[in-house]
Amino acid sequence: MTQRTALVTGGTGGIGTAIVRYLARQGHRVATNYRDPARADAWRAAIAQEGIEVAMVQGDVSDPASCEAMVRELESKLGAVEILVNNAGITRDTTFHKMSYQQWTDVVNTNLNACFNVTRPVIDGMRGRKWGRIVQISSINGQKGQYGQANYAAAKAGMHGFTISLAQENAKFGITVNTVSPGYVATDMVMAVPEEVREKIVAQIPVGRLGKPEEIAHAVAFLTGEEAAWITGTNLAINGGHYMGW
Ligand code: NDP
Repeated sequence: MTQRTALVTGGTGGIGTAIVRYLARQGHRVATNYRDPARADAWRAAIAQEGIEVAMVQGDVSDPASCEAMVRELESKLGAVEILVNNAGITRDTTFHKMSYQQWTDVVNTNLNACFNVTRPVIDGMRGRKWGRIVQISSINGQKGQYGQANYAAAKAGMHGFTISLAQENAKFGITVNTVSPGYVATDMVMAVPEEVREKIVAQIPVGRLGKPEEIAHAVAFLTGEEAAWITGTNLAINGGHYMGW
């Protein structure tokens, strides 16, 4: 199997850690960003216990200049980015009539604008080398909307438009661009939701449980593999049957 250099943004989070593990176990050189050096050290030490070495570069995905610097530093450490997983994300939930401009822009900047910020510094290199894999981690709520998440649903839906446009522009350069849309996965982001709300969510999932981070990581590993060369501009919904539309 060809070993590649992979950047997983938000690799220290629940789903990100699972993606990092999967890609590292496939033999790839894996990097992620961090914001807080102390938390980064603790995370790196924990994953090193599993025998996984991860390059860590400081970077805020909501800030274009920070992302440019992050990618250049990573390239000097590991080589050019060949696999990019735009995974970092946040929620700032509230109904729209109470939503502040800050709550709106924080979510759009971290989920959607981050796709520009991180992909822009890597795309020329991928085009030049005629190989690349880009995956956006969107959300079921970008497909179906969600009460209290106008900001998040708008940002996540925007990632689909980004994916299919980028897929068209770069297909002839050997670059595939896809979106993975997880349903509710048992990570800190979802465990922060009040238990009675979570129970109602689980009741709507035909498979009858929350997803596991590994179930999302498995799909990312598949889409970033050599053999997924003919899969581009698609959205892979992984949600236990919670939403069965596109
Ligand atoms: P977590 O909150 O566990 O992890 C989020 C990660 O993103 C952390 O590593 C965090 O780093 C990083 N991050 C957040 N903001 C920034 C920023 N401005 N710059 C750099 N890194 C940042 O989330 P999940 O693992 O649950 O979610 C991962 C992705 O999956 C997100 O895009 C989310 O929207 C999506 N998703 C999650 C679902 C779920 O059920 N959990 C369902 C559907 C989609 P730090 O430690 O510095 O905050």
